[in-house]
Amino acid sequence: MQLSKTKYCRGIQCKKILWLDTYKPEEATQVNDDAVLENGTEVGELAKGLFGKYSDVAFSKELSQMIEKTKELLLNENIVITEASFQFENLFCSVDILKKAKNQIELYEVKSSTEIKDIYIHDISYQYYLLKKLGYSITKASIVSINPFYERKGELDLKKLFVIHDVTNIVEENREQVEDNIRQMERYMKTEEIEDNIDMHCFKPYPCPYFSYCTKHLEKENIFSLRRMPKKKLIKFYKEGITSFEQLKKININDPYKRQVLYELEEREPHIDVEKMNMFLSTLQEPLYFLDFETFQEAIPKYDYTRPYMQIPFQYSLHSVENGKLKHKEFLSKPNVDPRRELALRLVKDIPMNACVVAYNMMFEKMIVKHLSELYPDLRQHLLCIYENMHDLMIPFKEGYYYTKEMKGSYSIKYVLPALFPDERDLDYHHLDMVHNGKEAMYLFKDMINKEEREVEQIRKALLAYCKLDTYAMVKIWYKLKDLVDTKQKETMEVP
Ligand code: SF4
Repeated sequence: MQLSKTKYCRGIQCKKILWLDTYKPEEATQVNDDAVLENGTEVGELAKGLFGKYSDVAFSKELSQMIEKTKELLLNENIVITEASFQFENLFCSVDILKKAKNQIELYEVKSSTEIKDIYIHDISYQYYLLKKLGYSITKASIVSINPFYERKGELDLKKLFVIHDVTNIVEENREQVEDNIRQMERYMKTEEIEDNIDMHCFKPYPCPYFSYCTKHLEKENIFSLRRMPKKKLIKFYKEGITSFEQLKKININDPYKRQVLYELEEREPHIDVEKMNMFLSTLQEPLYFLDFETFQEAIPKYDYTRPYMQIPFQYSLHSVENGKLKHKEFLSKPNVDPRRELALRLVKDIPMNACVVAYNMMFEKMIVKHLSELYPDLRQHLLCIYENMHDLMIPFKEGYYYTKEMKGSYSIKYVLPALFPDERDLDYHHLDMVHNGKEAMYLFKDMINKEEREVEQIRKALLAYCKLDTYAMVKIWYKLKDLVDTKQKETMEVP
């Protein structure tokens, strides 16, 4: 078996992933997250310049070419090489950045993350082990990560954007362990498929793409369908043999989980708490402004006063309701410009001071508005007013004032909406063109700069339609909740 650092890390997460990658790759269900991948590539490219001038070993399907090129470059006494590639027996690796000064070598593994995960240590331990086996003298092994507190002002400052973590002592200590791990992986690959190995490693450090495959022996609705239950607890139940909703019904679990189980098993009627719902609805006073932002994130801050992975709003949709009249306003930035100032100006124009603003899961919208208010002192008062007057339409679902079986324990709008409006095509995100969720919106918006004018127009239309549906859905939910309360109250009054 040929191992690379990626394969080694997959094997560290769970040996069965390696086995399935080799023998049953078609069973993987999860697709790669392009946005994350893209960020990773962008960060890797930028980090190459961290130590100034460098020589790059170009990628080749012929690994031997990369290895030969590396040998050639290593003849230099002092050099920085990126993607330096090495092979020892059946182990291969490319080092993100290698610094050579005389005969001393330093290794740098670049990550687009803002934190150091254990799996990164495994990654660089593997590289260190391999180079040591080849006889190199390594004086330093480090992980390069992103500094989440770096705020861009003017030109990018790579020395401040990246943080270097020296892990030399740890990788030296890990050498024996790496050897042991490799031997175990090799042995495992020669075995038959092992049936069941479900544990925390199915979720960490990455959600495993074979999870559906490995849990296919469970009932359709099983313990892992429970929403928001901590993974550790799920695994504990699983190991105790408690996997079905029937079993869960008989044990003591907290309310939201119990509710999901009972509604699923007993085909219960929708639950509505009229009193609490009335109290909530009375906080929403017309004119109402239903607001939703779309945002993008960049590992490398593009604009002044932005930090890595900060949520940058580029679009909003706003439906307003007053005396039964529905109006719609929207904003969508041009690509490749800092959208925040124009967006903030439009927002304060579109939402009057002291108006009642409604968002779904408002913490997100609040965070955006707060940030804008800190950025633009001239708009601060108005933006803070919007911030203060925001209400969360998610509350009735999160708190269980209204619940149906179809919500399957979730209070996300993507579950609530079809549960409330099962047959309304206009409210079905699946029928939208190109954009069906926030991630797709972010990805397409960022990709607009690479597109022809005609395609840009298509994407703009799709983005506008998607965001508009988000706020239109909120309006419909609000009306529906009022109707449900009215109907319930009438029913109660009619009972003799
Ligand atoms: S789902 Fe879990 S047990 Fe199955 S391959 Fe993935 S990590 Fe391993």
